[in-house]
Amino acid sequence: MSGHVTYAVVGLGSAGSFALRSLARAGHSVVGIEAGGVANDRSAVGGDTRLYRRLYLEGPEYHDLLERALELWGDANRTSPDSFVQCGALSIVEAASEAADTLSRYGERFGIPYRRLDGDELRREYPQHLCGPSEIGFLDLSGGFVRTDVVVRQAVEDARTAGAEVVEEQVLSVESTEAGAQVVTAAGTWQVEKVVVAAGARSGMLLEAVRRHTEPRRLLMTWFQAQEPVAYAPRSFPVFTRETGDHHMYGAPALDGRHVKVSGIVSHQPLEFEAGGYDYGQGPKQEELRTCEAAVAASFAGLHPVPVRSAVYPDLYSADRGFILDWADRHTRIFAATGFSGKGFKMCCALGEHAAQVLSGEAARLPAFALSRFDR
Ligand SMILES: Cc1cc2nc3c(=O)[nH]c(=O)nc-3n(C[C@H](O)[C@H](O)[C@H](O)COP(=O)(O)OP(=O)(O)OC[C@H]3O[C@@H](n4cnc5c(N)ncnc54)[C@H](O)[C@@H]3O)c2cc1C
Repeated sequence: MSGHVTYAVVGLGSAGSFALRSLARAGHSVVGIEAGGVANDRSAVGGDTRLYRRLYLEGPEYHDLLERALELWGDANRTSPDSFVQCGALSIVEAASEAADTLSRYGERFGIPYRRLDGDELRREYPQHLCGPSEIGFLDLSGGFVRTDVVVRQAVEDARTAGAEVVEEQVLSVESTEAGAQVVTAAGTWQVEKVVVAAGARSGMLLEAVRRHTEPRRLLMTWFQAQEPVAYAPRSFPVFTRETGDHHMYGAPALDGRHVKVSGIVSHQPLEFEAGGYDYGQGPKQEELRTCEAAVAASFAGLHPVPVRSAVYPDLYSADRGFILDWADRHTRIFAATGFSGKGFKMCCALGEHAAQVLSGEAARLPAFALSRFDR
């Protein structure tokens, strides 16, 4: 299939699905091209849920995107009830740490509603976490989790309803000239004015300017069975991150009443794609699962430590772990929205919207996420 439309979006995953929706809703003619199927399990959409935190350690440059995402996730709930569940987000940190200071400062600067729990309060209110005396908690009252496949599929459906064309093919190359861009698949070529490349971990295969500053990584996700499901239901167990001593992990409550997600114990590793550029075969390893078992046994009350489910998902990490939202060619025809470095989903709706607005000239690029920063 091929043809002429004004814009194309390559990759209809986390960010691309929302870019497509924004362009279509603004009345533009646009095609979305997806290689693996919408909301597929070989992309960063896999694994059911992602954490949303508003009280954010990673830096003030994310604030506006996080605020806009909160509005858009609220809208998503009106269309697909329960796609964003605000069960709270608990950050567990050492009381005397840079992280504790940063969270307090961030909360005050931006007026984010949160509760600071001292060590006794943390252990009393959240006995599921086996915390030591030096650990404290920050409960972000706006935080929670997003159901990844639900919101991505809905965004693509909304885009179709607004007139977008959606094709399921692998994009083989994206090139630009002064006059426009060409998007090539095995089935044909799309001639467009401009294109968003949001191909996640595979974006560097299409764009040299992205490849130079990024690396695909594999992230292991694991689920554990709760002995008492009510203790790990969203009502009693907020999503969490824990960065203390030997504990590096994050997770989400049980969606099915039993299986609690605890991940991030094994740090992300480089990921290699197979010939042809889409598949990867590096599933969970026995030694990684053993590490997870030991960490879960030491960190939680009432979870069976042997994972009942595990999977590896890809993401694209930039050299400084910051996002890439920038033109990737000298003709300003190819906009890269990628390199979300393990933290993009919570604001992917706002990222896609932003990419669409830059493409159509309604918004300026965000300097914090420009490619030129890597050359300084
Ligand atoms: C295990 C794990 C846990 C995470 N936890 C969190 C969290 O709790 N909170 C958070 O905010 N973030 C989290 N992240 C990060 C977040 O999920 C990612 O940063 C974000 O989803 C990446 O979005 P993306 O649009 O760049 O990529 P993707 O969502 O992977 O989308 C890329 C799409 O492009 C398609 N594609 C690729 N190549 C081509 C091609 N050549 N032609 C056509 N289509 C193509 C793919 O099939 C895919 O659909 C996590 C990531 C992982 C992997």
